[in-house]
Amino acid sequence: MLTSVVGYPRIGENRELKFASEKYFKGEIDAAELENVAKSLRAEHIRSQKEAGVDFIPSNDFSFYDCLLDTAVLCGIVPKRYKELGLSELDTYFAMARGYQGEKGDVKALAMKKWFNTNYHYIVPEIEDETEVKLSGSRIFDEYDEAKDCGTETKPVIIGAYTLLALCRYTGTKTREDYIDAVIGTYKSIIEGLAERGDEWIQFEEPSLVRDLDENDKAFLVRLYQGILAGKGNVKILLQTYYGDVRDVYDTITTLPFDGIGLDFIEGKETLDLIEKNGFPEDKVLFAGLVNGKNIWRNRYTKTLNTIALLRGKGIDVVLSTSCSLLHVPYTLAGEEKLSAEHKKYLAFAKEKLVELSEIAKLADAPDSEASTAYEENEKLFSSKRDCDNEEVQKRIAEIKDADYVRNPERKEREQIQKDTIKLPLFPTTTIGSFPQTKDVKKNRADFRKGEISEEQYKQFNKEKIERVIRWQESIGIDVLVHGEYERNDMVEYFGESLDGYLFTERAWVQSYGTRCLKPPIIWGDISRKKPITVEWSVYAQSLSDKPVKGMLTGPVTIFNWSFPREDISIKESMTQIALAIRDEVLDLETNGIRVIQIDEAALREKLPLRKSDWYSEYLDFAIPAFRLVHSGVRPETQIHTHMCYSEFTDIIPAIDNMDADVITFEASRSDLLILDSLKECNFETEVGPGVYDIHSPRVPSVDEIVTALRKMRTRIEDKKLWVNPDCGLKTRGEEETKQSLINLVQAAQIIRNEA
Ligand code: GLN
Ligand code: ZN
Repeated sequence: MLTSVVGYPRIGENRELKFASEKYFKGEIDAAELENVAKSLRAEHIRSQKEAGVDFIPSNDFSFYDCLLDTAVLCGIVPKRYKELGLSELDTYFAMARGYQGEKGDVKALAMKKWFNTNYHYIVPEIEDETEVKLSGSRIFDEYDEAKDCGTETKPVIIGAYTLLALCRYTGTKTREDYIDAVIGTYKSIIEGLAERGDEWIQFEEPSLVRDLDENDKAFLVRLYQGILAGKGNVKILLQTYYGDVRDVYDTITTLPFDGIGLDFIEGKETLDLIEKNGFPEDKVLFAGLVNGKNIWRNRYTKTLNTIALLRGKGIDVVLSTSCSLLHVPYTLAGEEKLSAEHKKYLAFAKEKLVELSEIAKLADAPDSEASTAYEENEKLFSSKRDCDNEEVQKRIAEIKDADYVRNPERKEREQIQKDTIKLPLFPTTTIGSFPQTKDVKKNRADFRKGEISEEQYKQFNKEKIERVIRWQESIGIDVLVHGEYERNDMVEYFGESLDGYLFTERAWVQSYGTRCLKPPIIWGDISRKKPITVEWSVYAQSLSDKPVKGMLTGPVTIFNWSFPREDISIKESMTQIALAIRDEVLDLETNGIRVIQIDEAALREKLPLRKSDWYSEYLDFAIPAFRLVHSGVRPETQIHTHMCYSEFTDIIPAIDNMDADVITFEASRSDLLILDSLKECNFETEVGPGVYDIHSPRVPSVDEIVTALRKMRTRIEDKKLWVNPDCGLKTRGEEETKQSLINLVQAAQIIRNEA
């Protein structure tokens, strides 16, 4: 049995690409040095897969920032304003991803969005009416050649034409229909170019096919691929889908002339059913995504082998594959010294998943091969009970009453009470929580972690930082202050560390966007709060000012979504456990005099099921109550804020309002404030702070620019409900740009107050 990997993580086991890119951005290394780092990473990744015996090893799964942007660039989809900067190919690419501010001009980055139901973000390509879609680069060929030169025949991968056109933003009057011929031509040239090099298989990734598709979409898909696949010659095309099942287009794709179809058996609830009901074409290879590309748990071999046997029993030619790219899991367990052997037994990261692929493939062909010991161990692991229960937690969950989900009095009434007690000006200014995590801040944490400084020294440093940032915010006239979050590495890990039931890794980084990586903790067992987490910092910060300082927490949905979840209890149960733990923290903050508490739900939108029919029943019906459970116990005068990254919640506005927060801040600047119309239409009740500038880019917004944004916001949002704030936390930004940006923000708010 052959094995296939959809994609491999690309940032490097030690985040080499991140560090090299950041040096490049600062001008510390040149493009050639950056390319060299990239090249050696690619070689290393291919080597790992080769050593593990993977048969279909991907190439061109590498990216300097994002794979969809790569595909767009390859197809010539580069907006004019970036071309006009006259930068090198690489710098034009980075300008699209990160924005550009320098001697050649001042251009914002393209919008960034969550990639399907993952915590990875893609850059949204923009097609202008005058964009000429055509093959415009050579990376896919170069990376194929590069691997071949090192002796490895790879399977080049690229985002497929359907998904590309589905995710692009059309800035003019044209639609995807207008580009179909050009796109077909481009993909044909890619196939031809690879065919000339002797390539055998190409992988077109089409995750968009697991969403809801209508007749129109289907017809478009057919035309697109009839065009692309016509006259493809000897090259074999693998249509790779992932993150769900393809129920709307199963018939369609199985009748198109693909040579292989990749289906997800992990997240694709109906994948097996589709095959059972409709059969699978004899002339195609099934790339069966049976090894989970997203989770960190060991694969249960019996279960996988049974499915393989079932498929083979139907006469299907099966290649064993990962369910999606391994981009979403960390590199390897090998460097994790602090995890116990007992815990590690249950886990598999990217490299370990390669071993699983190979062991399962061997077992499928010959049950008593050398892999049979691995099989027995695997069976033993899954037939014994993991040590992960906490009876007290389970009892508390059982005792939750309906009333625990309801905050009293109603929002309208609270709004007035809060206006009277907190006394803020019209258009209050605030930030999202973190301030720049400068080198000294990170070093302080690292030194403390390594035991090089005492707890007292560690705290003293942070307290000085807090005092400075409080004074500074006061001095420029911010209304609702924050303490800066200097004690936090990351908004989830920080909380996880104080919760029982979590496991932590040291090097298990996963790419979130571009050079940003996260280290999601692992939910191992039942969750409970060990002791107060943020109270000391918040109380200290509040003691320095008469202005309200926001308590700053991460909400249960985000903590859950940014952790590697358990699979032995329901999502609902896990989220509720976390909600109870954070509820304890909210009440402690309130008791200790904190008047405004922000509960971040940065990741609420991202796990929304890809199919609309599942939105409520499989997610919102328990995610929203989990959030309510966290804050329902506070007094009316305590103001609850929430924050969400990304404003793509047009379709779930009522659910967001239902979280029953008093104020919500969210990203808006990168998406041209489109969300505002929808808020107005839906009579959104929560007070809102749509971010007035983009913090994912180092550029400083001008006062004018912010004023313009605010004027536009005022046409859609009642004055008394409008807040003024950046898009998101400032931790990834430099100090100088942050200061200047916030000074401009406060000035803009003042100008708007005078206009009101
Ligand atoms: N309070 C967090 C911060 O400011 C929120 C981060 C986020 O939304 N991703 O960093
Ligand atoms: Zn955010």
